[in-house]
Amino acid sequence: MCNTCLIENVKADMVSRRSLFTGAAAMGLASVAAGVTTARPALAQSSGKVVDLTHAYDGSFPTFDGKPGIIFDPEVPYTPGGYQLWKLTIYEHTGTHIDAPLHFTEAGTSVDALPVESLMCPLCIIDIKSRAAEDPNAMVLPEDIEAWVSANGEIPAGALVAMNSGWSPKVGEAAFRNTPDGKLAFPGFSKEATDALAERNVAAIAVDTLSLDPGNSADFAVHYSWLPGGRYGIENIANLDALPAKGATIFVGAPKHKGGTGGPARVMAVV
Ligand SMILES: [Zn+2]
Repeated sequence: MCNTCLIENVKADMVSRRSLFTGAAAMGLASVAAGVTTARPALAQSSGKVVDLTHAYDGSFPTFDGKPGIIFDPEVPYTPGGYQLWKLTIYEHTGTHIDAPLHFTEAGTSVDALPVESLMCPLCIIDIKSRAAEDPNAMVLPEDIEAWVSANGEIPAGALVAMNSGWSPKVGEAAFRNTPDGKLAFPGFSKEATDALAERNVAAIAVDTLSLDPGNSADFAVHYSWLPGGRYGIENIANLDALPAKGATIFVGAPKHKGGTGGPARVMAVV
């Protein structure tokens, strides 16, 4: 989720919540650190199969605010015997990308400072495709987490929990972002579900849509609670259908620009 106008609109709200979240962020960070250093499970054995969970993107890739997320300028055109390179202007929250805690808090962890243990972790996939087919603003609910645990066992501390809503294949269609009348519409997590994941010391969440919150969210409750808690998110993840509900290990190739609020990431999994 990445809309400059939105950020301006909610700035006052952020200020009013800041004192509340300063403590929450500190607590969350401490618990995440504990989760990845003391309670971290051994990573699964791999068959060697690697799945790319990243969309290729250019200026036509859908964005939350509808503006191009990346602009290419041919800084050095190729000449025989020479070389070539692009100058890129990239908005951080473009393509398959990471939301660092700093995205929704004034003093949260920036993308370069995320502990590497949280960027390589067990992957748990919650499938809500059937519900999302009926409701474009469907949410991952606490019941979905309970059903996943009943079927697959407990979610390991330090895991990344991904929503598979079936949205990824729509990326070339307007329906990836909005309804025909232009209203944002796509699935996301409910705050009740991410609160339950925070209690389980989960390191990160991922969505195959443009935002951690569903498209019709008016309050961005997940962004405002999950990220300030010292955890991160991934938006526009791809190819989750190629992986089992559990047993894969995800690698999040997050960018490392200092003080970044997030950025395009190469995300892969081995299974
Ligand atoms: Zn984002």
